[in-house]
Amino acid sequence: MRIRITINALRTALVVAVLSQLLLPVHTQAQVRPVNDYGAIGLAQLLKRLNTTASVMMIGAHPDDEDSALIAYLARGENARTAYLSLTRGDGGQNIIGPELFESLGVIRTEELLQARRLDGAEQYFARAFDYGFSKTLDEAKSKWPQDVILCDVVRAIRSFRPLVVISRFSGTSADGHGQHQYAGFISPLAVKAAADPQQCTQSGEPWKVLKFYAGQGFSAGSTATLRLNTGAYDAALGRSYFEIAMEGRSQHKSQGEGRLELKGDLFSGLNLKENSVTGNAPELSPFSGIDISITGIPAITNNSEEPVKKKATELQAKIEAVTAKFQPLGKSAMLSDLVAAYKLAVECEWSTRQPRTKTMFRVVEANLAALIANAAGNSDRRTG
Ligand SMILES: [Zn+2]
Repeated sequence: MRIRITINALRTALVVAVLSQLLLPVHTQAQVRPVNDYGAIGLAQLLKRLNTTASVMMIGAHPDDEDSALIAYLARGENARTAYLSLTRGDGGQNIIGPELFESLGVIRTEELLQARRLDGAEQYFARAFDYGFSKTLDEAKSKWPQDVILCDVVRAIRSFRPLVVISRFSGTSADGHGQHQYAGFISPLAVKAAADPQQCTQSGEPWKVLKFYAGQGFSAGSTATLRLNTGAYDAALGRSYFEIAMEGRSQHKSQGEGRLELKGDLFSGLNLKENSVTGNAPELSPFSGIDISITGIPAITNNSEEPVKKKATELQAKIEAVTAKFQPLGKSAMLSDLVAAYKLAVECEWSTRQPRTKTMFRVVEANLAALIANAAGNSDRRTG
């Protein structure tokens, strides 16, 4: 009898232990595994990212407002550090897959966006605007969202991510439809200006000057664009077009029923250049045209004419080109010592100047090199700077 009780007690304890494990919160990463970021292809992508200082932030109002195809093209085609800033978490929408609404739905949509970004290769930011549901006018959105709070939220995101280029998804006019879309188009150019002004949003990080500001062609196919980019271009290394990759990410917006076909062939996204502080007459072939996005371009685009940093940047550029030339898909570990040497050079570049903007850009190069070193050593989950 005593033995039977003991066995029953053990059984009960085992059941309780298993159940308690099931009920405990589990820390997980996004469920998708982006094949483009692993192994030799992942290493090649990181090497391309290392060879450019291009960076861009897109701003919209909701999860699903982003031009996913353009984001994938910028992140994986132009190899730019790319981010999407959503003013809201989509709390006010409908839920196709479950009963959750409002804040709970906002949590689901946050995770959906993070998974989409893992696939299209960009980063995700949010402001604190609450999605109160559909509205027709900009004035209604203005009455719900305090401008000083939302402006400085967007400024904080810009100053934190430090993009060379910002793309507003919307125009700020009634052509955008939804009042919250109009608000995103209205606040974006104000935030770009405020981000560079040390007198504005003083609690939202160090000032950062964006060099080019675009407004997207919007949801209206009839509107014009000063720059058209082929997001359907095929990437030989990835084996797919940027549009196809983007639609795999887009299909993560499951609470919105956003399953999308991964179409092949030419498909275009349009942009309109609104503000440009880049000198010269370079033709508009990409959002970064006219900006020296090489490593040696860092001192120039940060208005730094100090000779020591220019000299060090030239050394770093040469080292990075040498490492890139040594890339072999089947022999990646041979790069490790060169990558470590390049990392030390990048740190020397950072410390060769006191100018904060220049230092910041070299820190990104350091982060990219750290990600490469981790990948070459067998850890593909390390993300770029
Ligand atoms: Zn929207």
